[in-house]
Amino acid sequence: AAKEKGRDNLAMFEPSLDRIARQRREIENDLRDALARGQMRMHYQSIIDLDTGRTTGFEALLRWYHPHRGVIEPGDFLSVAEDTGLIVQLGEWVIRQSLADAVAMPGDFRIAINLSPTQVKNPNLVATVAQAIHATNIEPERVELEITEHVLMDQDEVGHSTLMRLRELGVRIALDDFGTGYSSLGYLRRFPFDRIKIDRGFIADVASDLGSQAIVSTITRLADALGMDTTAEGIEDRAQLDLLRKLGVQEAQGFLISQPVLPEEIGPPGEECGIELHAPDPELGPEF
Ligand code: C2E
Ligand code: MG
Ligand code: MG
Ligand code: MG
Repeated sequence: AAKEKGRDNLAMFEPSLDRIARQRREIENDLRDALARGQMRMHYQSIIDLDTGRTTGFEALLRWYHPHRGVIEPGDFLSVAEDTGLIVQLGEWVIRQSLADAVAMPGDFRIAINLSPTQVKNPNLVATVAQAIHATNIEPERVELEITEHVLMDQDEVGHSTLMRLRELGVRIALDDFGTGYSSLGYLRRFPFDRIKIDRGFIADVASDLGSQAIVSTITRLADALGMDTTAEGIEDRAQLDLLRKLGVQEAQGFLISQPVLPEEIGPPGEECGIELHAPDPELGPEF
């Protein structure tokens, strides 16, 4: 019976592996033409200041409006884009489009753009960013580039000097998904980031888990001491938001505040998707 079961499992497993490989090939083929066919869109998710509740900026998040598959999120095509090198062309489009959208927004919002390690490795990156800033005439300090520590891990020297050159353009650099990789503290010493984005993994249970509270509090104080700002990612409920304010995190982002939206849905400052803040509940969580 065990043997039969094993064979059944195998029989069920093989076609699905095959399907995954076939799907990946289809995505790869479709992805080659997606830009030219105008199927890519940027969505923007607001980031609020936890003192005022006002929107300070937006993170640009890539979406693929696929004619048959619907709206596809980056998790389902970025690795194909990376493996095929299509990420470079795609990433250049993201930079130009995000800055063009930013200057058309009804406010001087900061615009945060994600960069993959392959993009940072590309020798044209600095020129692409410089040209996009020039073409849109955006104040460079409104532009924030988000990288993960993989960028500094893969190619320490190249990554570091590229980031320094980007910084000379006047743009800000944020360390994304902080706390998920390896030996994160070393990277904070090696590069003067403007901002740390605290990974959603610590935020998910921050309202109930003392360990996560201690970590968020420590990251926040460390960032303070290093002259960096903090943004918490993935806020989904009010208890998380109130606790993060209490722990001294400066900015917050997440579905509680807003989903990523199309640029035409963004209102002027004050009418954009801000959030009502009241005094933090003194009963919430321990003092750090
Ligand atoms: P990320 O930079 O950490 O972006 C945040 C992700 O969390 C986004 O997923 C966002 O939709 C999602 N998110 C926001 N609030 C919440 C929440 O409250 N709960 C939960 N569960 N999730 C939330 P998305 O758009 O699917 O992007 C995934 C990742 O893909 C991004 O992670 C980023 O690393 C990458 N990415 C997105 N757009 C681009 C792009 O234009 N270029 C590059 N190179 N990478 C991109
Ligand atoms: Mg997602
Ligand atoms: Mg990001
Ligand atoms: Mg992140």
